[in-house]
Amino acid sequence: MDKKGKPETLAVSIGRMSDTHFGAVNTPIYRASTILYPDLAALKANKQPYSYGRRGTPTTRSFEEAISVLEGAARTVTVPSGLNANALAILSACGAGDHLLMVDSAYEPTKTFCERTLQRFGVETTYYAPTEAIAPLLRPNTKAVFCESPGSLTFEVQDIPAIVKAAHAKGVSVLMDNTWATPVFFQPLKHGVDLSIQAATKYVGGHADVMLGYVAANDSHAARLQETHGNLGLYASGDDCFLGLRGLRTLSVRLARHQETGLTLARWLAARPEVARVLHPALESDPGHTLWKRDFSGACGLFGLVLKPAPEAAIAAFVDGLRHFGIGYSWGGFESLIVPAHIRRSTGTFAEEGPVLRIHAGLEDAGDLITDLEKGLARLREHT
Ligand SMILES: *Cc1c(COP(=O)(O)O)cnc(C)c1O
Repeated sequence: MDKKGKPETLAVSIGRMSDTHFGAVNTPIYRASTILYPDLAALKANKQPYSYGRRGTPTTRSFEEAISVLEGAARTVTVPSGLNANALAILSACGAGDHLLMVDSAYEPTKTFCERTLQRFGVETTYYAPTEAIAPLLRPNTKAVFCESPGSLTFEVQDIPAIVKAAHAKGVSVLMDNTWATPVFFQPLKHGVDLSIQAATKYVGGHADVMLGYVAANDSHAARLQETHGNLGLYASGDDCFLGLRGLRTLSVRLARHQETGLTLARWLAARPEVARVLHPALESDPGHTLWKRDFSGACGLFGLVLKPAPEAAIAAFVDGLRHFGIGYSWGGFESLIVPAHIRRSTGTFAEEGPVLRIHAGLEDAGDLITDLEKGLARLREHT
């Protein structure tokens, strides 16, 4: 297997293991708990590549190895969801008495995990604003800085290289939830991040039919990650890893289309009188645009929208009548989605000028989507 090339090339070729599967292009789905040893000597030596289902099968290993190449990682572990990947990364980096510096724009359930569960094990979490300099916020017991860029719901872009520099100067680990960009548009480990986290449920799966997450580690963080993953008994099924691998093969073409349609919708919406602001770092007018352009090689189809103040009934008339945008959580599948965003901030950094909506641009025709939105905004006006 050639491990060099652009992400588009790698995503097609990596993790195939065809030589061990009778030439089949795809690694088959292995369902396994027990894996047999030929004799007691083999059991004692414990050198088989596969020892027990929970510890991995050729299907899970194919997915993990493919991701490691794409991420430039020493080791990748798979878990049952993106939220679990965030929790695992934090658990593998922090212990009792430590402090975790968490970005305020992180995915809300990640913040809740820190506040409600991690806290019970003696790890204190404090928040920093997504674009704030972190050096003054590091404490003697700070063990990790958690980043998510662009931020959930509000899409602020973080200066990852600057955060890495400040954190590493004090021996602090850097963790990043990179679900928005995927490793096709941003590779955290190549920018100095120690643990790269992905909700593979979103674009890697790509078809709204799987829950899956992974954490990819650099050399210095691989052993601790692998040990924590093993001790927690975490495992993603062969069926789900198969879907993850299959999604990976078409990730770059899907992302190119999501990007194009997302930008088309964002530009169209930005020019509408009902819209106060579009939250999309690939728009030249976005406050995060310069950083995004410096560090990222593309944008996905997820962005935010701040409407001018409007009554709830007007927003319902707009959203409920849409034909091509489903109302529902998650994103990264082939379908367009819209949901209201409820933003909770500790650092007071996002001033809501009006109702916020989150849009996922799917693979439908952009013109059809715009017609749908145009009719929706007409309904919004009627009810305002
Ligand atoms: C959806 C999401 C997650 C959680 O992924 P699940 O697979 O739904 O648990 C984590 N981080 C971000 C940024 C997400 O959007």
